[in-house]
Amino acid sequence: MLQTSVKSYENYINGKWVSSVSNETFESINPADTSDVLGKFQSSTKDDVETAIKAASDAFPSWASTSPSKRAAILNKAADILESRVEQYGEELTREEGKILSAGKGEVKRSAQTLRYYAVEGLSFTGETFPNDDPNMDVYTAREPLGVVSVITPWNFPISIPARKIAPALMTGNTVVFKPSSDTPLIALRLVEALHEAGIPEGVINFVTGSSSNVGDPLVKHPAIRAVTFTGSTGAGESIHSKASLTTRTQMELGGKNPIIVMDDADIDNAAQLTVNGGFALTGQACTGTSRVIVMKSVEEAFTAKLIEKTKELVIDNGLVDETKVGPLANEKQLNNVLNYVDIGKKEGANLVYGGNRLEGPKYDQGYFVEPAIFTDVKPDMRIAQEEIFGPVIAIIAVDNYEEAIKVANDVEYGLAASIVTNDIKLAKKFTQDIEAGTVKVNRTTTGNLINAPFGGLKKSSTSTFRESGRVGLEFFTQIKTVYVGY
Ligand code: NAD
Repeated sequence: MLQTSVKSYENYINGKWVSSVSNETFESINPADTSDVLGKFQSSTKDDVETAIKAASDAFPSWASTSPSKRAAILNKAADILESRVEQYGEELTREEGKILSAGKGEVKRSAQTLRYYAVEGLSFTGETFPNDDPNMDVYTAREPLGVVSVITPWNFPISIPARKIAPALMTGNTVVFKPSSDTPLIALRLVEALHEAGIPEGVINFVTGSSSNVGDPLVKHPAIRAVTFTGSTGAGESIHSKASLTTRTQMELGGKNPIIVMDDADIDNAAQLTVNGGFALTGQACTGTSRVIVMKSVEEAFTAKLIEKTKELVIDNGLVDETKVGPLANEKQLNNVLNYVDIGKKEGANLVYGGNRLEGPKYDQGYFVEPAIFTDVKPDMRIAQEEIFGPVIAIIAVDNYEEAIKVANDVEYGLAASIVTNDIKLAKKFTQDIEAGTVKVNRTTTGNLINAPFGGLKKSSTSTFRESGRVGLEFFTQIKTVYVGY
């Protein structure tokens, strides 16, 4: 792609678009075609973040006392704006992150739906009343906003994850400082722009781009920050969680090593399709992506053959091309990481039965494309069976029975999502109880979650305190006061 001039975008602080005091910018690049630059963004500093936190602090009292119906009206209007621009923003999302166009558009629509969902759900989010023995006293809980909330997000769902954090934060009366991933700042900015155009008051949402090394600490450690809602890698989440003070709430949505168990009664074609969809759609870059298949030895051969057959059919190309099923990896670091794990798998003695190479040729040379990789003969303690790869690499582990399958499935430090493929309803029910995962599926892909249902993981996949999504997604953003009124 030949580009003449690259547009510069600014931070959004106190209702105005402003440059960083650093006077420096970084570029957002298309991972399918690195000559396509989506824009230049502010390399912000600690001082920019502090200005944003001050704006959010100043705006808090007024926003906290703004009527819920006014807050809801702004979220609904921002949703209208996003929906009216699905074509443009969907394409930008694909150019910036790499996912296929239908997924890019779908994510913009989902973000609008999320704003609408919390605009409604927030209106009926209440405390409780408590029966007591004093006839002249009422006892109830009141829910109050926390104050200034930091929102820190990854690149893989670069607008829908921010929406599912920002909408409940704003609806409950908090003000926000939002830092998106430096790989996807443009589509994150579009969400802020929609809220701006919808008339959000000055300082209620602030947007600061830049590296975590420059802006990460004040977003977590500043005394005015009452809560940090973060989605990203477990390493970064652990670091942020450990830096937060006693008075700063944290919600960490982190990595996964998600298994699908294939029982011997499974429809093999369906099991292979669920694995392809869960493991290779989004180029394996979903936190809930399938990365381990735990298959009964009796059906291993048939399953592996089917999986390879279906994987071969996947069209790998720029996500803007209609037929594409698998786009590029999101950045160079991701590419190197995936190729490195393919190497590790081979050295550990697993059998690479399909793919795993960087793709070459005119369609691929400007981007970060790999063939999805399938390993067999994987032992549960191998690194490719234990560590999050976050790319299109599937490790097949063969086992003798359900008991062994569950043991292997649970023997990792993560617990985000898991699935089983079986027609045995009793076994499926047992699986939902035995599996250590926050999202449990039967005969479905490990990926995908509803806007209106809770989402989160167990073990090192999440802080275990608060869930995102659904009605409970509002809880993180409010504190409870218990009130006794005698009269
Ligand atoms: P990442 O941890 O590298 O970065 C996530 C965000 O945090 C970015 O905005 C980054 O700049 C910022 N950040 C990183 N270190 C920080 C620090 N010390 N202080 C403050 N901010 C910091 O993750 P990524 O590569 O953008 O995303 C991929 C990861 O996200 C994977 O591990 C994936 O499993 C996880 N993820 C989890 C969920 C979930 O809901 N559980 C959803 C999507 C992605």
